Amino acid sequence: MLATQGKKIWMDGALVDFADAKIHVLSHTFHYGVGVFEGIRGYATANGPAIFRLSDHVKRLIDSARLYRMPVPYSAEEIAQGVLEAQAANEIIPSYIRPILYRGEPALGVKNRAGKVSLAIGVIPAKKYLGESSETGVRAKISPYRKPRSDAIPSFAKADGNYLNSYLAGVDASDDGYDEAILLDANGYVAEGTGENIFLVRNGTVYTPGLESDILLGITRMSVVQIAKDLGYPVVEKLVGVNELLTADEVFFSGTYAEIAPVREVSHYAVGNGRPGPVTRDIMDVFYRIVRGEEPKYAAWLTRVPALARAVPRAARRERGSA
Ligand code: PMP
Repeated sequence: MLATQGKKIWMDGALVDFADAKIHVLSHTFHYGVGVFEGIRGYATANGPAIFRLSDHVKRLIDSARLYRMPVPYSAEEIAQGVLEAQAANEIIPSYIRPILYRGEPALGVKNRAGKVSLAIGVIPAKKYLGESSETGVRAKISPYRKPRSDAIPSFAKADGNYLNSYLAGVDASDDGYDEAILLDANGYVAEGTGENIFLVRNGTVYTPGLESDILLGITRMSVVQIAKDLGYPVVEKLVGVNELLTADEVFFSGTYAEIAPVREVSHYAVGNGRPGPVTRDIMDVFYRIVRGEEPKYAAWLTRVPALARAVPRAARRERGSA
C-alpha cells in the first residue's frame, strides 16, 4: 500500500504544502481519466540521493501526453528539473515520485480540451512492494479481467484511465487472497501485472511478452532485459501462453514500485520449487547494486539530486510568484 505523505508538491513550478495541493472537482481529468503520469524511484547512493532512469521516464511521460493530444507546457529538461526540485524539497529517500500531467480546471464535456494542462509532482516514501513477500516471492492470480486492446485504450501510454482495468484485476486478486493479478491480453496470451511487467525463465532463457500483448513498455523491463543480456542469458520477447507460464522454471515481475519481485505461485500452481530461482536472483543482485550506485557500468541510469540548497531557491522564487 502506498503511503501518502510528503512535505511539498511541485505544482507548475511552485512548491505547495502537501495539504494544499488541490484541484477543482469539475476538472476534466477527474471526470474522464484523461491524464498521464509516471512513477519514478529515488534511491540512496554513496553520492547522495539519485533518480533511476529519469530521462527515460520523462520521455515516456511526454509520449503518453502526445498520444492523448495533451500539449505539454514544459520541455523535457524542465520536467526533469521539476522532478529533482520536488525530490530535493521533500528530503524523502527512498522515494516514489509521481509526476502527473492533467487538466485541473473546471471543464466538463468529454472532448473539451479548453482547460490548461498542468504538471504536478508528488514525492512519497517508497516502501518495499508487498513487504516481505517481495523477497520470498509473491502469489499471483491469473485475472478474469483482460487487458483492453491497444486500438481501444493504447497500452503504450501510461494514462490515468488505464488503471480502471488494473484496479479491477488488482482488487479481484486481493479479494481472493492473492498479492497480485496477472492479466491476459484479448487473445488470451500473458500480458502483465496491474503495475508490473512479467518475465519467465525456462531452461536458462528469459522470456517476456511484447507490445503486441498490449503491455506498458516498462522502464524496469528495459533495464532487466539489458541486465539479463549482460549476464549472458538469452532474452526472447514473444507471445507467452498461459501453459508456458504455469510450467516456467521461474517467474518474476518488474516495475518501478515492484522493482524485481519473484513470483512463487500462479493461480495455485507453484512456480519451480516455490522459491526465487537462480536466474531471478542473479538479475535482482545486479539490479539492486545498480540502484545503490554500486555498478559503475550502469552509472548513466542514475541522476544525482542536487543539494536542497541549490534546488529549492528557483522553485521558492516561483512560489512567491516572481517566475
Ligand atoms: N505495466 C503497467 C500497467 C504499469 O503500470 C507499470 C508501472 N509503471 C509497469 C508495467 C512497469 O513499468 P515501469 O518499469 O516503467 O515502472
